[in-house]
Amino acid sequence: MLLTITTTHQPATDLGYLLHKNPARAQSVALSFGQAHVFYPEATTARCTAALLLDVDPVGLVRGRKGADAPLEPYVNDRPYVASSFLSVAIGQVLGTALGGRSRERPEFADTPIPLVARIAALPCRGGEDLLRRLFEPLGYELEAAQHALDPRFPAWGESRYFTVTLRATTRLADLLRHLYVLVPVLDDAKHYFVGDDEVEKLLRRGEEWLAAHPERDLIVRRYLRHQRGLTRDALARLTAEEDPDAAAEARDAEEHEVEERIRLNDQRLGAVTAALRASGARRVVDLGCGEGQLLRLLLADSAFHEIVGLDVSHRSLEVARDRLRLDSLPPHQKRRIRLIHGSLMYRDARIAGYDAAAVVEVIEHLDPPRLKAFERVLFEFARPRTVVLTTPNREYNARFETLAGGAFRHRDHRFEWTRAEFRDWAERVAERFGYVVRFLPVGPEDPELGAPTQMGVFDLSRG
Ligand code: SAH
Repeated sequence: MLLTITTTHQPATDLGYLLHKNPARAQSVALSFGQAHVFYPEATTARCTAALLLDVDPVGLVRGRKGADAPLEPYVNDRPYVASSFLSVAIGQVLGTALGGRSRERPEFADTPIPLVARIAALPCRGGEDLLRRLFEPLGYELEAAQHALDPRFPAWGESRYFTVTLRATTRLADLLRHLYVLVPVLDDAKHYFVGDDEVEKLLRRGEEWLAAHPERDLIVRRYLRHQRGLTRDALARLTAEEDPDAAAEARDAEEHEVEERIRLNDQRLGAVTAALRASGARRVVDLGCGEGQLLRLLLADSAFHEIVGLDVSHRSLEVARDRLRLDSLPPHQKRRIRLIHGSLMYRDARIAGYDAAAVVEVIEHLDPPRLKAFERVLFEFARPRTVVLTTPNREYNARFETLAGGAFRHRDHRFEWTRAEFRDWAERVAERFGYVVRFLPVGPEDPELGAPTQMGVFDLSRG
C-alpha cells in the first residue's frame, strides 16, 4: 500500500517541515499491524514527493484471532496490499503532527493552502468510481481514477473494485490528510478494528469543518462507523447540532453546579417538577433531555408514575443514568416501569408520542434558535403530551451570583438565558400556537426585584 503526496509549492522541500519528516532520511516506524516507511522519492526545490509505504504483516493480523470459520481466509485477503483503515491509523501515528495541522518550524505554512497531488495505490472502492467522485469532488479535488482488471491475464473476468486514485487540489496538507483519514475507510467499507465510542470522537475531530456540510454526510458517517446504528445516530445528531452533547453535559456538571450549589437549586427544581407532574395526574411520563437521570430517580421513587421514559442525545449521559439508577439490578416490577432511549429532540419521534406528561428540565437553553423552533413542533405538535413541565434559568437572577461576571451565562454551552418577560413571551406564543394554556411558577428563593433563579412553565393541553 503506497500513498504519495507531491507539492510544487516552492521551495518544495519545505514539505518536510509540514510532515515533520526530513527529506534526506528514510524512516521506519513499527505499528501494531506492520511497518510504516516514510521516504522521499524526489526532493528538489521545484518538486517534492513524500511516500508513505505500509508493509502490513498478514500473519501478525491473524495472531490472537479466534474462532475463524474459514481458517485460510485471513491469509488470502487483500488487506496487506490495499489502502484501508490501516492507512488512517498510519496517518494518525506517523503523520500525526501534520494531521493536526501543526508545524513547529513553520506554523503559518501549515495553515497555507498549497498545490498538492496525492496518489493512492490501490484503493478498494465499494460503490465504484461514481462514489469516489461523490466523496472527493465536493471537497474541491480534481480526481483521476484508473480501475484495475480483476486479473489482467483474463480480461473476461472484468474489473476489480481496486483503483489507483490521483487527487489534486490547492489545499492545506492537514485538510488533505483528514479527508483521506476519513474517506479511505469509507470507500473500503471494511474497518479492521472494533468500532467504539471513541471512533465517533475521531470522526468528528477529523471531520470538523467539512463533514457537516458534505452532501454525502450520512453515507460517510454510516460507513465510517461500520453501520452501527446507535453510533451513527449519535454522530449525526452531533454533527447537525454543531455541538458536543457529552462535553456539554460534562461541562454543565462542572460549571453550573459550582455556581448554583449554595442554594441547592437543583434539588428544589427537581422537587418542583415532580410536584407539578404529580399534580397533573400523569401516570405515563417522559423526561426529555434526561441527562444523568436525577429526575428519573425521583419519579421512580413515586408509585404514582407507572411508566417512565428518559430520552437524551448523549450516549454517555444515558450510560451514567443507567448506572446511577442501577437499572440492571432493579427488581422486575420496577424495571418494567422505566426505559432509557437515545434520541434527539430535533426530530419527530413516535417513541415519545402520546404520553400524559413531558418534563423538559434545563434543556431549551442548550438549543440555538432554529433548533428551538424544530423542538417546539417535535414536542407540542407531534409528541403532544397533555402536560409539559419546562424549566429554564432566569437571567435576571444572575446578578445575584457573585461568580457570574456581568452578562455571563450560567454555563458556557447555553445559547441563551431568558429574562422572565422573554420566557413568558416565548411560552405564551408556543401555547397559543399549539393549543395549550401555560402558567408560570418560580423555583428557588425569590428576589423581590429579580425573581427566582429558575423559571418553570406548566403547559396544559386546552384542545384536542
Ligand atoms: N434534565 C437534566 C439535564 C439538563 S442538561 C437535568 O436537569 O439534570 C441538558 C441535557 O439536554 C443534556 O443531557 C443534553 O445531552 C441534552 N440535550 C441537548 N440537546 C439535546 C437534543 N437535541 N436532544 C436531546 N437531548 C438534548
